[in-house]
Amino acid sequence: MIESDLKTRNSVFVYSSEFEKYLYPPEHPFNTIRAKRVRDIVNPMGLLAGSGGREVAPEPAERIVLKKFHTPRYLHALKSSAAGRWSPEALQMGIGSPDCPIFKGLYEYAVLATGGTLKAAKMILSGETGLAFNPSGGYHHAGPELAAGFCYINDVALACIVLAEQGNRVLYLDVDVHHGDGVAYAFYDRSDVMTISLHQNPKTLFPGTGFEDEIGTGEGEGYCVIVPLPVGTYDQAYLKAFEAIAVPLMKAYNPDVIVFELGADALAGDPLANLSLTNNTYAEIINHLMDFAKPILATGGGGYNVENTVRAWALAWSIFCGADPGQDIHHAVGGVLLESTEWQGGLRDRELAVSDSQRETVMPALEATIEKIKANIFPIHGL
Ligand SMILES: [Zn+2]
Repeated sequence: MIESDLKTRNSVFVYSSEFEKYLYPPEHPFNTIRAKRVRDIVNPMGLLAGSGGREVAPEPAERIVLKKFHTPRYLHALKSSAAGRWSPEALQMGIGSPDCPIFKGLYEYAVLATGGTLKAAKMILSGETGLAFNPSGGYHHAGPELAAGFCYINDVALACIVLAEQGNRVLYLDVDVHHGDGVAYAFYDRSDVMTISLHQNPKTLFPGTGFEDEIGTGEGEGYCVIVPLPVGTYDQAYLKAFEAIAVPLMKAYNPDVIVFELGADALAGDPLANLSLTNNTYAEIINHLMDFAKPILATGGGGYNVENTVRAWALAWSIFCGADPGQDIHHAVGGVLLESTEWQGGLRDRELAVSDSQRETVMPALEATIEKIKANIFPIHGL
């Protein structure tokens, strides 16, 4: 089991300026600059060089580790395509599709981003840190032989594999607005990695999978937890679902380590999705996770409104460092004032008004989902 001092987590921010050298095509929604933008906010706050948090650079993932999840055939096709030797066989694996285009340095980028998440896993396993955050990670849609949903190499599935290999019970929590399908299905028949994904109802969003009756098979029955959320889900409704489902299951499962995919595309205003969260919900979830007093490996993920995503991840990092600026600017770390002159709430979003019709459509649907999940899964865990 992992030995680390969780009172002072010595939080680690995984970052390299190398990431910005690689760009998805200009018309593509995925933006590799987000990690740098987060760093630009948290560095002047003293959150990368103090006792609470520090920065480490990733190293490219080794091929031998990539093969723990991806097939050699797929890795070969990905590397060849990135080097200009694309084939129709590669397209069958999603490489070169509109969602997963081939761009300059694609292979190096994917391997470095994955290396960042694996470095985080390594530092957690060695006890060097109790919390590591790789905002350039979180590629939860990639399959063993599939590029999908802007994802080429599934760094989060690999991290779960590496952590579980050392005998740890892993809890994978995915709050990206899209179903964390690549990870959920990787561990669908296993009980040593519990996956929990909260996401927009897949009837209305990519990837079209991730319904509450998908609960795992064999040994894994009851260890795949899926919470589909209605369009328009707002803070209070989301937290109700999180507290009713995720919190008791996490307590019952009692993991050794938590892998946390922190996609920020569930925030209101995301151009690719239709939920209505503020980053206060993310803060609340992170506080729940920190209360578990278990090592946390956090990654980025989706988030296509760049400003909102960057602010949410900067807020997340400040909480990871034990320096939540809170809702009152006077509590801001080092008296930092952000550029906005009209909003004095620091990194936190303003509360969003919820309309009556939103309340009336979201809550009953969500409550029915919560009851179904409880009936299907809770008895398996003695709840
Ligand atoms: Zn997403």
